[in-house]
Order: sequence, then C-alpha cells, then structure tokens
Amino acid sequence: MNKKIWLSSPHMSGKEMKYIQEAFDTNWIAPLGSNVNEFENTLQTYLGENNFVAALNSGTAAIHLALIMAGVTRGDEVFCQSFTFSASANPILYLGAKPVFIDSESDTWNMSPKILEAAIRDRLEKGKKPKAILVVDSYGMPAKWDELVAIAKKYSLFLIEDAASALGSTYKNKKCGTFGDIGILSFNGNKIITTSGGGVLVVKTKEIKDKAVFFATQSRDNAPHYQHSEIGYNYRMSNIVAGIGRGQIEVLDAHIALRRAMHDFYVDYFKEIESVKVFTEPNSDYFSNHWLSTILVNPEQTGGKTREDLRLAFDAANIESRPLWKPLHLQPIFANDPYYGGSLSESIFNNGLCLPSGSNLTNEDRGRIKLTLDKFFRE
Ligand SMILES: *Cc1c(COP(=O)(O)O)cnc(C)c1O
Repeated sequence: MNKKIWLSSPHMSGKEMKYIQEAFDTNWIAPLGSNVNEFENTLQTYLGENNFVAALNSGTAAIHLALIMAGVTRGDEVFCQSFTFSASANPILYLGAKPVFIDSESDTWNMSPKILEAAIRDRLEKGKKPKAILVVDSYGMPAKWDELVAIAKKYSLFLIEDAASALGSTYKNKKCGTFGDIGILSFNGNKIITTSGGGVLVVKTKEIKDKAVFFATQSRDNAPHYQHSEIGYNYRMSNIVAGIGRGQIEVLDAHIALRRAMHDFYVDYFKEIESVKVFTEPNSDYFSNHWLSTILVNPEQTGGKTREDLRLAFDAANIESRPLWKPLHLQPIFANDPYYGGSLSESIFNNGLCLPSGSNLTNEDRGRIKLTLDKFFRE
C-alpha cells in the first residue's frame, strides 16, 4: 500500500526540540514560562502594532473567552457564520447564549454583509438581544472586512474574528486575526503551523490581555490564599507546547509559500477542466494563506460524477480529501436555531471538496494526486 497522503499534516521545522529542551533544563514544565512569553511576543510582532496576544490551550478556548470578554451571557444572541467548523459556535452554547446563523457570499465564502445587516434589523424588530458577531476567515480566505466592521460599528455589536486557520492571510495588507474587537487563532495539529494543540486570543490593549489571562488561570484574585470572585477557567498554554510554537513560527512564511504553491498546482491542473472551479482570491485586496485548497465540482459538466465520487477515488488511492464544512444551520445540534440566508453555503457544501494541501507534500505526492485526477477527469 502507498503511504497515506494527508489533507494537512504537521510539518516540523526541526527547531522545536531546542525550545522544548530549554523548558526541561529550566524546569518550567507548567502553563507559564519563557516559551509562552516569547511565543506571545513573536506573534504580537508578526501581527503588528496595537495587538496583544494571550496564549491558550486551544482555539475553542479562545472563542469561549472572546465571547465572555464580549459580555455575552445567557439569552443573548450571537450572529455566527453558518459555513464553518462547529467549534466556532459551540462556545455560544457553553454560555447559554443563542447562535443566529448567517449565510455566506460567493466571493470569499464568508459571512455575507448584506444578509448580516438584514438579520440584525429583523432581530431588533423582534425585540431580541443581539450582542456579538462571529465571522470566520474560512480555509484562510479573508472575509469582507470593510463592510463587516462598518456594520458592527453601526449597530454597536462586538465583533469576533475566528481566524483559526488564517494566520498569515491579509486583507488590504492588514493581517487576519486583527479585524475584530477580538481575534482568535488556532495551532491545532492540522493548521498552517501547529503546537500540537493550542490557540491564542488577539486583543487591542494590555489591560484586556491581562483580563483574559486572569480568566484563563482560574480567575484568581490578588491574595496569598486562593480567593475568587469570578468564574475561572484552566485555559492557558503549556510552556512545553509553546516551545513547539516558537520553532514553528520561524517557518511560518515558508509554510505559507508552500501552501500557496500547492494551490497554484491545483489552479494549473484544473485550468483545462471546465467542470471544476478552484476557489481563489476575488481580487488583489485579498491574500489567502491557502491553508486548504478547495474546489467545486459541477456534476452537470462531469457526466454526473460528484465530489463524493472524487473523494472515494482519492480514498482508494490512500489520499485524504474532505467535503467542505457542512453548514451549521443544517447540523442536528443547531437545527432549532434561527438562520438567515439562502442556499449558498449549502450548495458549496454539496459540490465542494478540500484537497491535500500540506506544506510537506512532495513531488512524488503531487504525482500521485495528479494520476488520481487524470484517471477521474480524463479517462
Ligand atoms: C480549527 C478551528 C477551530 C478550533 O480550534 P482548536 O484549536 O482546534 O480548538 C475553530 N474555528 C475554525 C474555523 C477552525 O478551523
């Protein structure tokens, strides 16, 4: 059997062990220490001025804390992109708040500003309590930030950017993760760089960062004994894991270039295949890290062959591919929550596939991918 080709697997730089060894040598085997501080500082510098970073143990934890910092409580409504991973919306449920799902637009596959504004007006007319908006940069593609930020301001709603997979992407030269009142990034094993598991909050002041770290370390008041006046969480990043992050961030730009080269490989391959559209930036305002390369397969032009047939063909060749996000408003767990929009996100789910996109794919891997595609589309 051929070796498995993964959709997106960890790609180490070789520098990670040095930082992990440092943590051992200094005995900072804890959710604090110099790796955590340095990882935060490096990311802050990367994201640019006026951004403060708090390192946490997952992107999901970061979304949970972002909602808490937004003041979301029981009964509040949060507008959430429907076309995303469930981890974007689950923390809304942790707080007893209610997600209101919003459809995407076709340029970026992210939250439609038009549908969002119509939904806000409708909820306000119905006397509901909208509190926040959660927008995702899906697959690394920046959302329509100018419009979305303006709407959040106009209606005084707290804006959260789920940039879990969009580290290194930019919109009008501004980095993803920095558009909302709070942004989040993930360093899960399948992301563009990984700490095995981890995430960060990106906030606008040192005070807000300190408050987030306070919540993430059990909300411990200033006293010699354990004293607590607020609910606490155990969400801080471990100093070991942050060592992996330090080694990874040194190769971030190189990994982005390799992911974008994989995307170019697919653009080039599919330029002669009319039944397939490779998802790419709508114009030069957008720069995607192309975390995952994705395509839409039109069965009307393939003689009835679907993206699921292609997925099975890849699977038979021991190559991993995966359908796009199934929209959250179609998920059983969110079936009773309000939804605004049409069928855009549903139709891209029906016809879309994520292709192997890792920065560690070899020429041999590309050859096997090409062979499978040739068999599927040309024979
Ligand atoms: C990966 C991901 C998350 C969750 O991040 P974890 O670090 O795995 O908890 C949330 N939202 C999106 C869009 C993601 O891709």
